[in-house]
Amino acid sequence: MKDCIFCKIIAGEIPVKTKVFEDDKVFAFEDINPQAPVHILIVPKKHISCLNEASNENLELLGYIQLAASQIAKQKGLEGGYRLVNNCGADAGQTVFHIHYHLLGGRVFAWPPG
Ligand code: 5GP
Ligand code: ZN
Repeated sequence: MKDCIFCKIIAGEIPVKTKVFEDDKVFAFEDINPQAPVHILIVPKKHISCLNEASNENLELLGYIQLAASQIAKQKGLEGGYRLVNNCGADAGQTVFHIHYHLLGGRVFAWPPG
């Protein structure tokens, strides 16, 4: 989608420092402003603005992203655990309106989140 920063990253129009994983469905790269020693964004190649815009058509893709996250967490050695976060909507802190999941690890996280 035009004017979407993550679509531009996926298309290679905006370079990312560290691509972590790519296949035909998802693109994963390090967050530019990491909140943990490991902070990777896992983004579907298909533009969906947020979880509320997803439908039954996207069921398989959403499951696929979670399994990709667990594979990446294994590759990154996050045996102690990790957090997979989706911010949906402004109140949750979503700033990029192309659905994505934050894979956070490498430190101990508090609960409840801020
Ligand atoms: P949100 O706040 O929407 O849940 O997450 C958006 C995330 O995208 C933020 O953590 C932000 O640091 C990251 N981000 C925004 N622009 C870029 C960029 O150009 N490159 C990378 N690698 N991350 C970005
Ligand atoms: Zn997009």
